Amino acid sequence: MKFTPPRPPIHGETLASLAARLAEAGEPAYRAPQVLDWLYKKRAAAWDQMTNLPKALRTWLADTFDFDPSTLVLNRQSEDVTDKLLLELRDRSLIETVIIRAPQDGVGLDHSRKTICISTQVGCAMGCRFCASGLAGLKRDLSAGEIVHQLIQVCRREDVRTPRARTELASFDNIVVMGMGEPLHNYDSLLRALTILNAGWGLGVGARRITISTSGLVPQIRRLADEPVGFRLAVSLHGATNEVREQIMPVNRRWPLEELLPAVRAFAEKHGRMVTLEFILIEGVNDTLDQAAKLRDIAGDLHAHVNLIPYNAVEGLPWRRPSLARQQKFVSLLQERGVSVTLRREKGHDIDAACGQLRLKTEKEREGPTAPA
Ligand code: SAH
Ligand code: SF4
Repeated sequence: MKFTPPRPPIHGETLASLAARLAEAGEPAYRAPQVLDWLYKKRAAAWDQMTNLPKALRTWLADTFDFDPSTLVLNRQSEDVTDKLLLELRDRSLIETVIIRAPQDGVGLDHSRKTICISTQVGCAMGCRFCASGLAGLKRDLSAGEIVHQLIQVCRREDVRTPRARTELASFDNIVVMGMGEPLHNYDSLLRALTILNAGWGLGVGARRITISTSGLVPQIRRLADEPVGFRLAVSLHGATNEVREQIMPVNRRWPLEELLPAVRAFAEKHGRMVTLEFILIEGVNDTLDQAAKLRDIAGDLHAHVNLIPYNAVEGLPWRRPSLARQQKFVSLLQERGVSVTLRREKGHDIDAACGQLRLKTEKEREGPTAPA
């Protein structure tokens, strides 16, 4: 399920692949780092701004590569600290990128820590029952360039609001691969994109500042454990027993807990880093104290951090979040046994920040009033 654009995005090229293309075109070796420097450090907004490249080379680049594989079509800012970018790709597909700000004392919101949540697919094939992204299935994978370009869109926006002190700095602190799609279902493009974001010749974002969230694709988790670069891993658990988990996550039938948890352990041991277990709290589904006790055992065993997320309502789906008191009981049970746990205070509810919701709404509007609700 690939989309082949007329020209590949320049942001999908690595130093090696770009150097090879330029060599074929008869260009000297130093041109590739020059082009990448313009893209990632100097943040050129067009080929013509690359003033130390000969005009003929700029024309060749423009004929060969796409400079902007996505266009910003909507930017919604929520009352809290979340900013949502809706991006349109060349085939009119829509994806979401979210800027999440963590307010800090004595610092204006614009200058606070920023985490960027990126998408890896249009839609998702995993079909989790609670998720807006998976409702219509998978449309297609994103290319590496389309993944990287989301961060370029963020940088363009943030560079204006908060001019960078030093040009080598990215305009944000962390990346979480938690937007639309199952990242490990698009493994090769994901890894290529993260390599570009991580590289010194790219955006230079440290691997420890990049978290990949997965619904639990076991072979790919094991493959990721063997990669030389140690990105962080978050696993969407959402059920502490197979019985509960498979009610809401079909992937659990293929990769049940007895296969998933050893793979997560292997990853944690390989990279010597705490893995995060994500657990959405859904009323009457997984919010019992029995689930809390079993989650506590799993987390204790894996030395994992638990991130509890009160369910974010999705139009057309029946699920609800538990009361605050019930959420707190769940947290307390985990804390009593010394499990490291956070209860996520919701961000971006008022702009449909939950996974895939803004895209869903916009697609419905595009279909027009006659389309089924
Ligand atoms: N596919 C990957 C990453 C994208 S989903 C994964 O599943 O991990 C990112 C996170 O958002 C997951 O933990 C997912 O379960 C959660 N999520 C999806 N829909 C949600 C909703 N309606 N409310 C709260 N969290 C949701
Ligand atoms: Fe896909 Fe993640 Fe949504 Fe499940 S929660 S459908 S894996 S995006």
